[in-house]
Amino acid sequence: MSELKVDQLLIIGVGLIGGSFALALRELGIVREIVGAGRSRENLEKAVALGVIDRYTENFPTEVENSNVIFVSTPVLATDRVFAMIAKENYRHSIITDAGSVKGCVVSAAEKHFSSDYCGFVAAHPIAGRENSGVGAATGDLYAGKRTIITPSNQSGDDAIETVRQLWESVGAQVSQMDAFTHDELVSASSHLPHLVAFGLVNYIANHSRSQECFDLAASGFYDFTRIASSDPTMWRDISLSNADDIIRELKGYINNLEKIISQISQGNGDQLQEILNVAKVSRDYYLAQWTK
Ligand code: NAP
Repeated sequence: MSELKVDQLLIIGVGLIGGSFALALRELGIVREIVGAGRSRENLEKAVALGVIDRYTENFPTEVENSNVIFVSTPVLATDRVFAMIAKENYRHSIITDAGSVKGCVVSAAEKHFSSDYCGFVAAHPIAGRENSGVGAATGDLYAGKRTIITPSNQSGDDAIETVRQLWESVGAQVSQMDAFTHDELVSASSHLPHLVAFGLVNYIANHSRSQECFDLAASGFYDFTRIASSDPTMWRDISLSNADDIIRELKGYINNLEKIISQISQGNGDQLQEILNVAKVSRDYYLAQWTK
């Protein structure tokens, strides 16, 4: 394996995910120059002040040709427009990758905008993050020990996959591969469902007839369960609309399970109810033990 060196990295969307990627790579000295791009000048100036990027541009298409790697870490629904803008430039010598939480729509956008014989596009998803967003939340150790899933497509050549794999491994991630369809199906249950359930729960309490009193009595259980409802609503709107079929299926399955719980409670069926709760506890304990190994 040759030593990984990147002359110029262009990060489009310098928030939690893009900023953390930049910070980790800067600490390693793998990249000569990191250029940031995004929506607001304010965020980009903050990124320079925090030492996350070397400089920023308000016109990223001018940087495409000179960037060896282009990392797109905007909310998912912005990806199509970003790819369309990149595709108007000379992008063929660049590796283009992303960090979106949904992969099918990103792969489709790449197929729509980049030439069919281009082999530098590699979609990826770091299974790492937190509820805080923006460059101020970025940390250099966000990806250490966490997983990143690469979802190769027809436009992913071996060299490009290897470079993207090395970049993620260098920042401490454990990299694996699966197709975009499987990825979206699995994360709709493991990630998208819990986030929407947390948002739904807090929304329900916020609209409750005795909302303030409910919040006043909320303790650590409420805090633990709802932490991720503090995540960025724009990001979760985009994820929900981009992975709609999978998410709707999982939400319906979950509602069905809640109906079973309602049914056992309303029938006063303690044994059946306890069985449901036992399966949940044993499963979570097992999962936690695996996770903290
Ligand atoms: P974030 O902290 O809100 O950062 C997003 C960045 O994208 C911001 O700097 C924002 O700029 C910029 N941006 C927003 N819309 C844009 C547009 N239309 N064009 C150009 N730039 C735009 O979000 P994040 O948590 O880093 O998430 C970024 C991506 O990573 C998302 O696709 C998300 O699905 C994925 N992801 C997130 C997590 C997580 O836990 N947060 C985990 C894995 C993957 P301004 O600040 O100027 O608005």
